[in-house]
Amino acid sequence: MSETLPSPLDLPPGTPVVGHAGADEPSRIPVLLQSLEETARLSGHAAAELDPKVTQFEDRLAAARLGLAGSLFTGLRCKHPPTASHCLRVALGCSRWAAALEMPDALRTQLELAALLHDIGKLGVPDSVLIKQGRLQPEDLAALNRAPYQAKEILERAGAPQKLIDVVIASNAWYDGSRGDSQPSGEDIPVLARFLSIVDAYDSMTTDHVYRPAKSQERAVAELFQCAGSQFDPGLVRSFVEQLGKNYAERSAEVSQRWLAQLDTGSGNLPWEFTSHAPSGADPASSELAMFEKELIDHMHDGVVFVSPHRQILLWNTGAERMTGVGSSAAVGQTLTPSLLVMSASDGRLLDDTECPIAEAINTGAPNVQRMSVIGRKGKHIEVDLHSIPVCSPSQGILGATVLLHDASSEASLEQRCQALHVEMTKDPMTQVANRAEFDRALAMFVDAHQETGLPCSLIMADIDHFKSINDTFGHQAGDEAIISFATLLKAVCRTGDLVARYGGEEFAVLCADCNNANAAMRAEQMRRALSETVQSELGGKSITASFGVSELQAGDTPETLLRRSDRALLQAKDQGRNQVVQLGAGMDEEQPKKSWWGFGSWGKSLIETTLVTNVPIEVAVEKLKGFIADHDAKILKTAEHEIRIECSDAGAGSLRRTGDRPVGFVLDLKLEEEFIERENSVGLAKGAYAQTTAAVTIRPRHERDRRRGYATERARKLLGSLRSYLMAREADLETSPSK
Ligand code: GH3
Ligand code: MG
Ligand code: MG
Repeated sequence: MSETLPSPLDLPPGTPVVGHAGADEPSRIPVLLQSLEETARLSGHAAAELDPKVTQFEDRLAAARLGLAGSLFTGLRCKHPPTASHCLRVALGCSRWAAALEMPDALRTQLELAALLHDIGKLGVPDSVLIKQGRLQPEDLAALNRAPYQAKEILERAGAPQKLIDVVIASNAWYDGSRGDSQPSGEDIPVLARFLSIVDAYDSMTTDHVYRPAKSQERAVAELFQCAGSQFDPGLVRSFVEQLGKNYAERSAEVSQRWLAQLDTGSGNLPWEFTSHAPSGADPASSELAMFEKELIDHMHDGVVFVSPHRQILLWNTGAERMTGVGSSAAVGQTLTPSLLVMSASDGRLLDDTECPIAEAINTGAPNVQRMSVIGRKGKHIEVDLHSIPVCSPSQGILGATVLLHDASSEASLEQRCQALHVEMTKDPMTQVANRAEFDRALAMFVDAHQETGLPCSLIMADIDHFKSINDTFGHQAGDEAIISFATLLKAVCRTGDLVARYGGEEFAVLCADCNNANAAMRAEQMRRALSETVQSELGGKSITASFGVSELQAGDTPETLLRRSDRALLQAKDQGRNQVVQLGAGMDEEQPKKSWWGFGSWGKSLIETTLVTNVPIEVAVEKLKGFIADHDAKILKTAEHEIRIECSDAGAGSLRRTGDRPVGFVLDLKLEEEFIERENSVGLAKGAYAQTTAAVTIRPRHERDRRRGYATERARKLLGSLRSYLMAREADLETSPSK
């Protein structure tokens, strides 16, 4: 009966409070914290530049935590929004970690404040350096290296306590003493600075930058281990990694409660004054209209760019990002010249900067269209129709131009091919999204197409939380409405080329084309948040929540392994308390070996014997191996101390073209060993002992008769490729004897 069942809509203690529009100010703070996590965590800089709501959130958050020092933060945000967003995320990350370790309150406060202000020195770094896309020149590096000194000066003059300044400055020091003039090393670095430097690096790695895209969370963790002992305190790296995913929702809620409490009490030594500044002169109707325009521009397939009269880029939409592979934060502020996009005429001749069609439109006030090729992702040229449309105001004259980049390549793009899927798609009658059978077909095609092109793609699995009790409390009909509303929401958040499918009951799958781990996780966060804020009229005006598992296609994946990994991530999200996003998997290998890594060396006759090396401690490697076993539906045949024998079939590993081939069973023998190796960092410093795990791997067919099948070797290699992705390992043999 409904009375006896726990209602999913009654929040258990410790659940993050989800505020509602119109609530009083303090109860907005948890929402602001969430918003920041969601909109800013993975591509915060882009959002912060474009969305006045985000900057407002950030100002309020900083004001809540920093008091008077908030003006410093606001200054930083004016100077470089991505840096300010980064500081805030680092502060939240530090605070969660401190909570996990039950750090004393005063220390934790210092850590939060130091994190919020750790990049304040960037105020003194020239804009041209901060937004530079290409390689930094020595003078740029010198400007960046001056930032800590500028931070010191700014903080001293603002009257910051010396301890806080010390932490900020020392957070740049390397644990092995190899960086920073007269910086302390090892345990002499203030412990808070050692905390800060780890969270700082982790956030930088998992965020998109002008100069490189975000790494997956697992890759970032591997890199922390790689630099443990040189850059970071090795003990703290372990501690950081251990707490990362655990009780995330609870600890985030705790941070918001804590910041909120300080906001309420005025918090003695942190004078806090909060005034909300709505953007001046904004009339609600026009700001609403602006939201419509923003949505339209963001969802357009074409690239849309706004430029000033001097062709400085003011807006760079998602279409332009997708087309060029350059993120909005990298593009905004640059001058849009022919050389920036490497424009060339239809005859292949490069346009020089004096024959810029955009400048022409601005100078003459007349629009023009030109077929040309521009530089696209991975340096590939793409045919576009470039429309340059001058924008004039009767009172102010030329304001700039709108530039439209329409993909004119005759060959259908990957997205168009994926879109073609939709045409023949059979839909789920209730929700009007793709059904399970369509999903299975599309998944195989997505995996094939993306593996062929090397572009990333991700799979999000989502399942409504506590749905049984929703049915029990409100009836099946209301439950159906909630499922339909969730499906509609998922479709709304998706881009053209993505696929939303009803995987079963109240579980959905979203295939995200051309989308890496980081962006997929960000999208899942948007979905999660939107759902939690959607009022369900059929459920008495309450809202529901869902859990999300995210994973990106990686080397050696089959449709099944990708699906299982995302499903495992979803289960983990349920286990960790629901209403959250969990991401698993390393994603596409960004450091792909130059040569095909299985093309030579280490192969016996259709039998694999090789050694994989991964830069993580053995217990982390074992966790990753568990993921491999689960996702490949493998059976453990036996285990010895550090040895394991597993059996798995490659059913499904065969590509679509080869469905006639029989599946081959394989037996894998692995011997794991942790060792400490002496090495230096890339500049010949930081000598020390570093933990790494080696795995001696043998793969043989389960049945002798399969050895002779031509495809057995190919499949064994694919299996090894997958194992290598899961362990984030490299092949030792290839390193030592590349010419074998
Ligand atoms: P959780 O996922 O958070 O672990 O809990 P849950 O209660 O959602 O658990 P589970 O996924 O096992 O339950 C799914 C329920 O969804 C079972 C089934 O009665 C209900 N369901 C499945 N399909 C439909 C449908 O089309 N309409 C309605 N109203 N309910 C459905
Ligand atoms: Mg459910
Ligand atoms: Mg379910």
